[in-house]
Amino acid sequence: MLNLEGKVVIVTGGTRGIGLETVRAFLKQKAKVILFGSKKDTVEKALATLREEGFEATGYYPDLNDAIEVTKVIDEIAQKEGKIDVLINNAGISANQKIEDTTAQDFANIMNLNVNAMFHTIKAVVPYMKKQNQGVILNTSSMVSIYGQPSGVGYPTSKFAVNGLTKSLARELAPYQIRVNAVAPGIIKTDMVASLPKEQIEPLLKTIPLGRMGEPKDIADAFLFLASDLASYITGVILQVDGAAKN
Ligand code: NAD
Repeated sequence: MLNLEGKVVIVTGGTRGIGLETVRAFLKQKAKVILFGSKKDTVEKALATLREEGFEATGYYPDLNDAIEVTKVIDEIAQKEGKIDVLINNAGISANQKIEDTTAQDFANIMNLNVNAMFHTIKAVVPYMKKQNQGVILNTSSMVSIYGQPSGVGYPTSKFAVNGLTKSLARELAPYQIRVNAVAPGIIKTDMVASLPKEQIEPLLKTIPLGRMGEPKDIADAFLFLASDLASYITGVILQVDGAAKN
């Protein structure tokens, strides 16, 4: 029903957390998955974990802030696989310092990975998707792109930008049958959340009407749906997957 078998799917930040679970979800659907990570050893570790689970994927570790390197790797994948069906931009970093403690470099680092890197990967896949006259681009936003957050201003700023990029490119690329959507996760059990102070997490949990933290699988399932033919008339959407949380 999802019709993802044989689809060539790239997942950035695919070595752990939401990304790794997303890789698993697409492999279960018999898609051909290529994961990106930041380092050789984390990519190899993720591929080994998947192999132990009976899955076969491939991996790369381009510097996502280097447009030339990103394009080279994506060109290589397109040559090898003959097409690129789905790009999932999931790599991201967060922040929680007060503005006084945030340097201009901290702010730039967040924008570079969470926004500019997304621009580089999208720019690299678009020529292939246009030629195919089909493609799906999915971006990872966040619930903070709806509400903002009371610290770490670079993080919500970057995710508001992700929404802008998503909605605008959905319009620009629709004539080529390329759909562009984002998933905005709430609080999901991953290393990113484990690194936040308890005082920040506990009050947030109380605000989740569904009464639990999200699991990486909750987000992976949303990506599956948006990548599938079931979502063939959905583009330009920021899908909140957050248990109705309002932080
Ligand atoms: P995580 O920290 O577990 O994983 C982050 C991924 O990004 C890793 O695979 C890592 O390799 C990759 N990454 C980090 N820095 C990188 C760099 N410089 N270059 C290339 N890759 C890099 O985080 P997660 O919770 O799985 O988050 C995944 C996405 O979901 C992020 O975009 C994050 O903003 C978003 N998100 C997470 C939550 C949450 O509660 N966990 C909520 C909202 C949004």
